[in-house]
Amino acid sequence: MASDADASAERCELCRYFFNRRGRWSVCRRYPPTPGAKGAKDGFPIVTADDWCGEYRAG
Ligand code: SF4
Repeated sequence: MASDADASAERCELCRYFFNRRGRWSVCRRYPPTPGAKGAKDGFPIVTADDWCGEYRAG
């Protein structure tokens, strides 16, 4: 289980799968888009810079 320190260091904005659209919204591109997915933009899950998950990979 990730500690608070891990979560802080492994946040979305530092992950290779994080994609920001011109400062407007950010999505996770870990997996291919899913048409019609809830909470998604163009099929990718919307995330914030300080979100994180267990799929984190350093960019
Ligand atoms: S949700 Fe996970 S895989 Fe996606 S950008 Fe954030 S840390 Fe990376």
